[in-house]
Amino acid sequence: MKEACGVFGIYNFSQDSPAKSVYYGLFALQHRGQESAGIAASNGSDIKCHKGMGLVNQVFNEVSLRALAGNLALGHVRYSTTGMSILENAQPIVIDTRYGTIALAHNGNLINSVALRNDLKDKGISFVGTSDSEVIAAMIATSKKENFEDAIVDTLAHCRGAFSIIILTKDKLIAVRDPSGIRPLCIGKLDNALVISSETCALDIVGAQFVRDVSNGEIVVIDKDGLRSKTWERAEREAFCVFEFIYFARPDSVISGRNVYEARFHMGKYLAKEHPVEADMVMAVPESGVPAAMGYAAESKIPYEEGLIKNRYIGRTFIQPSQEIRDLGVRLKLNPIRDAVRGKKVIIIDDSIIRGTTSRQIVRLIREAGAREVHMRISSPPNLNPCFYGIDTATKAELIAANLSVSGIRKYLEADSLGYLSLKNLIKSISWPGKNLCLACLNGQYPVKIPERLQSLKLFFK
Ligand code: AMP
Ligand code: SF4
Repeated sequence: MKEACGVFGIYNFSQDSPAKSVYYGLFALQHRGQESAGIAASNGSDIKCHKGMGLVNQVFNEVSLRALAGNLALGHVRYSTTGMSILENAQPIVIDTRYGTIALAHNGNLINSVALRNDLKDKGISFVGTSDSEVIAAMIATSKKENFEDAIVDTLAHCRGAFSIIILTKDKLIAVRDPSGIRPLCIGKLDNALVISSETCALDIVGAQFVRDVSNGEIVVIDKDGLRSKTWERAEREAFCVFEFIYFARPDSVISGRNVYEARFHMGKYLAKEHPVEADMVMAVPESGVPAAMGYAAESKIPYEEGLIKNRYIGRTFIQPSQEIRDLGVRLKLNPIRDAVRGKKVIIIDDSIIRGTTSRQIVRLIREAGAREVHMRISSPPNLNPCFYGIDTATKAELIAANLSVSGIRKYLEADSLGYLSLKNLIKSISWPGKNLCLACLNGQYPVKIPERLQSLKLFFK
């Protein structure tokens, strides 16, 4: 299972129930996963959980939220891309352990989960779903450590890959990030409560102030005495996922002091410097390409115009598991403004090309709408390698840039020209030291070594 999810938790120091705020938080993190949503809450003695398939507002209503009483609550939104879209994999995972009942929500992907799962099965543990998160929960439950926090650290020491996790016990909220800090996680403060969230956009929605990011390899424990933290393990280098900046995070989020919108705007500016072309208008593939298109227009002095309208009520087409739905998805999702593009030389900006399916259809749509020339510009370098850390792009065989040269991709897209942002300027746009970013899907340098079995699954060529 590959999961790229959103997590959100609140510890309220008064007795007020934060379940509704967690609901709003998940609502703001909906872009991180649309397949299932869930909230677990503790009232000090019992943990209750409600989860279901679908969008946050489809899973919850007033009645189900009211039932989640208690001053601690934890929520999760999930997407999987390999077809195992089943309720058993919805989170939070709630299990009884000798440390008491716990609820666990995980964003990221373990690269050694099959081995860990098999070890547990050998010990007689059975599983209801197929997610990594259930493996982590079962490992905690079977730890030999006396103390619960030691059991968490002991478990995580065996986990390889990306994990930003929030765990809820009957009286504690615990947040951890993997030693490389691949997925985001931050801390916020609300009147009488502390908040943990995948992204700051979800702090904003509940009116919480950003306090700081959880550091790589840090474990944060919030209980009635407040917040305490320690480093449980730190990798040689931090390796924050650059794709969060390119595509995944919401543009209104701030990660480690960098506004995602601004980083994307700069990517667009550098893209215009690197790949200028004479044209009448700059347009974006909505919504992921918008900030970079604004930057491209600002730098090139070519007017930014809307050329495609997105149906707001559709999720990200990429997230749908089958190719058939993906193909149909583009027309379901996007429609050109014919009068805006007719007779013009058009520059289309998008953040990335993965399989090329969507991009090819977009070029066609714009041409059919009457554009004279269609120039495609991408605000990140070619996506050459699969991700094993929770953003499931594709296998190497499916990645168009791993199989075709830039000119081959241009031909496939039927674009008049194609230009990608360089890695150097991508890093400059984020103003984050390159050595502290995961760039593996762009340069093949995986910060956490990938087991051979997994490599052979995803790295094969057609
Ligand atoms: P395609 O042309 O089929 O490769 O699709 C490219 C589109 O997919 C771009 O608009 C990207 O914004 C989007 N995209 C990139 N990575 C992902 C991802 N992990 N999940 C969903 N969509 C993505
Ligand atoms: Fe992010 Fe790419 Fe690294 Fe995956 S491989 S964590 S998408 S930078």
